[in-house]
Order: sequence, then structure tokens, then C-alpha cells
Amino acid sequence: MLTLDKLTSLCKRRGFIYPSSEIYDGFGAIYDYGPLGIELKNNIAKAWWKSMVQLRRDIVGLDSAIFMHPQVWVASGHTGAGFDEALIECRGCHNRIRADFLLMDKFGIDADKAPIDEINKILKDLRSQGKKVTCENCGSSDLAEAKRFNLLVKSNLGSPTDALSEENVVYLRAETCQGIYLNYKNIVDTMRVKIPFGVAQIGKSFRNEIVARQFIFRTREFEQMEMQYFVKPGDDDKYFEELKKLRYNWYLEYGISKENLKWHEHEKLAHYASAAYDIEYNFTAIGGFKELEGIHARGDWDLSQHTKHSGVKLDYFDEATNERFTPHVVETAAGLNRNVLAFMSDAYCEEEVDGEQRVVLKFDPRIAPMKVAILPLQKKPEALIEKSDEIWQNLAKNWMCDFDVAGSIGKRYRRQDEIGTPFCVTIDFDTIGQGDKKLKDTVTIRERDSMKQERIKIKDLVEYLEERLGD
Ligand code: ATP
Repeated sequence: MLTLDKLTSLCKRRGFIYPSSEIYDGFGAIYDYGPLGIELKNNIAKAWWKSMVQLRRDIVGLDSAIFMHPQVWVASGHTGAGFDEALIECRGCHNRIRADFLLMDKFGIDADKAPIDEINKILKDLRSQGKKVTCENCGSSDLAEAKRFNLLVKSNLGSPTDALSEENVVYLRAETCQGIYLNYKNIVDTMRVKIPFGVAQIGKSFRNEIVARQFIFRTREFEQMEMQYFVKPGDDDKYFEELKKLRYNWYLEYGISKENLKWHEHEKLAHYASAAYDIEYNFTAIGGFKELEGIHARGDWDLSQHTKHSGVKLDYFDEATNERFTPHVVETAAGLNRNVLAFMSDAYCEEEVDGEQRVVLKFDPRIAPMKVAILPLQKKPEALIEKSDEIWQNLAKNWMCDFDVAGSIGKRYRRQDEIGTPFCVTIDFDTIGQGDKKLKDTVTIRERDSMKQERIKIKDLVEYLEERLGD
């Protein structure tokens, strides 16, 4: 089974994910994506973009800025209680605890989005019933009262660095979708879109999470893939259901196992939502089913709020019916980093082969960071390397290809298995006409999951791979 230790070690060892600022002893809950991690992340983002934008005439893409006018976050409700979490500090070890997590984990009480007074009352009631409310870190029951903690990350722009006062504070965006609302009018005015239509965006978001751990599951800097779909009021339910189906099937299409996915319906809703479902993934390394993506019906909350705060009317004129209205929104909000974690977890397999254990990441080829590994049998003679290089040059025009000459061929296969490379191409003496003459200009191609090997002509390689790697 995949444990957190195994996962973090594989990620580090094979260049997927590194802890940030390691040479300075690390920097809490921030991670860097290494050479393989960035390929994996890009491939997931590309698959999402394909489904959301490329294959949809009714959805357009956007890349809005991280910094926005500070009023945006007032209008959206993020500077207020809507984006607060309840923080409890342990007086013993100064550990910071998220009250709703503590209540759920220890007592099975759902206090997600509950007001602070209600949380403190629940805690008081538990204590008066003789229940022990303790710090998960040191076990102390000397805990402070829960207090509000806003998750927006503050910064300042164009002012002296020590002047983080209320007048010049700016926020790093906490969700990408606000940039979509700010560009709603631009898109309607310039892109000839007709309702219903959507706007999709992938980008960084920042949240001052109270508890940031569990590897890349919850970090203070992360990436979101969001799509806001603008619909005529009244059509919300129909498009909400369509979006739910589309997003769930997307995971299945890219190889996530059905038994590791499930729906969770929210009873307590965020300040903007009128309906909310999460797609949960069974993250075994961090304790089971947890949110991977949220699908929300947001009504006209955001467009109305921005109309109110900016004074610019964000509505829609339907020429077909001569009606003017503020569109309603159904959205999908998926975490790209949580997707990386889900795809890695789902692909991870340990198998026994000839009495030895192999670890293999059985990614869908479209998601795999490297598609093909070019492996010359050995470092010499020069002709072997030259032929291998020629093959690499040709295949690299189409796909990310690895090139590895060091170590025994068996060890190199294992390394490629561990990073999920679907195909290995081995170039040997026969290939360069220094062995069996009949096999000149042929290579051995090995498939990752079955480990089956075939001998094929070099000139057929591109077609062979095209058929098996997908787009
Ligand atoms: P959670 O309840 O786990 O804090 P959320 O409900 O606040 O998440 P949303 O605001 O709906 O999350 O954001 C959409 C998606 O963005 C989430 O489903 C998740 O995949 C991702 N996400 C949110 N916060 C983080 C974070 N701190 N680190 C990594 N991904 C995150």
C-alpha cells in the first residue's frame, strides 16, 4: 500500500516534487515541482484544458493576473467571515489547530463553516460532558478559545515594505475565478459568446492555511483549474448536473479507478454557494477520501456583488428573447496539485517480478511525464550511441523522451517503471548491424505494464507509438 513516506520518498528520489527551500531547512508546506513533476502537472493541466476549452465551442480560456484591486475581495466576501476558519492555539506547544478538523477527527462533529460562537459552544459542551479536547501534537488540554482567522494572504505593492497598513494592503488571489468575473464584461463584449457560455482558467492561488500539511494536499501556494459557466437563471440545475457528469467522467477517462472516487454533498454551504458537491478521491497515503474538486452553483452572487461594488453593470442582454438578466453561474474548481497527488496515488503499484519487487506508476500514457525512454544497450561503441541519439532526435519531435545510458538495462527498466514511462526502446548490436544482420535497423520496444518486448523496425517506431500513446 502507498504510504506517505513511500510517496514523498519516490517524489524526491525521482525528481517529481521537492520540499521548498531545502538548503534553508525548508519552508513550511510549500513544494517545488522537479523535472518530472512539472511534466506530470503540465500533462494533467493539458488534459483538463482539452476537455474544458479545446473540445468546447461554448467555453473560452483566460489568464488573469494574480493581483487584483483590493475591493474585489471585499465584494466577493473573502475579507469577511466567509473566508475565515476557526483557529485554536495550544498554550502548551503553540500548535495551531483548525477547530473544524479537530471536531470532525475526534468527535465526528461537522463544524465546517460554522460561526465562531457556535464552535466555542460545541467545545464548551464537550468539556462539560467530560470529553477531553486535546492538542493532537502534545496532548495538552490547555487550549485557547477558538478565534477567527482569515485565510487571505496579504501583501503590498508600490509602497515601503513595512507599511502593510489597511490603506495599501493588496491580496494574493485566493481563488482564480474572481479574475474570470472581472473579465466577464470584456469577454461578452469581445468574444461573441452567447449564453450559456463558460470561461476557464488555470493558475496559482494562495491561502494562509492554518494547518498546511499532508504533503501537496494542502499548501499555502497551489494551483487551481476553474471553469465558470454562465447560464440563464432557472437553467442552473440542468447545467449543474451536466458539469457534475462531465467532471466525474473526465477522471475515469484518464485512468482514475472508479472505486477511488466518490461524491460528497455539502450540507453547510460556503457564502457564495447555493449547491455544492465535492468529488472526493481516496488518498490512502493521507487517510482516505478527501476533496479533490468542488462543483458549485453560485447563483448570481459574484456578478451582483461586483456590480454593486464597482458600479459597472455585469448583466446580459438576450437578443433572442429581448430579456436582460444577471447570469447565474455553475462552476468547477479543481486543485491541480491535488490532481497530481491523485494521479500518482492511483497509478502507484508494487508488483513481484521474478522474485523481485518492482514499483511501477501505471499512468495513462497521456498523463505520463516521459512517453518513451531511449536506452542504448551500453556506452560503447560510438555507433550505438550515435544510432540511439538519432532515434531520440526523431521521437523527441513528438514526445517527451528520456535518454539513459548508465547502469544495467534491467535497472534502467525499473527506473522507467518507477517514473511511469509507457515505452522503453533498446538499441543493441543487432540494431547497428554488428550482430544478427537480419535485425539491422530494428529495436526492442518494451511496454511498461505487461513488460512485453517486441522487435520492430526503426522506421515503424513513430507509427507504433502514435497508435499507443494517444494525443
Ligand atoms: P478544503 O475544504 O480542502 O480547504 P475548499 O473547499 O476550500 O478546500 P475550494 O475553495 O472549493 O476548496 O477550492 C477548489 C479546489 O482547490 C479544492 O477542491 C482543492 O482541490 C483546491 N485547493 C483548495 N485549497 C487548497 C490548498 N490549500 N492546497 C491545495 N489545493 C487546494
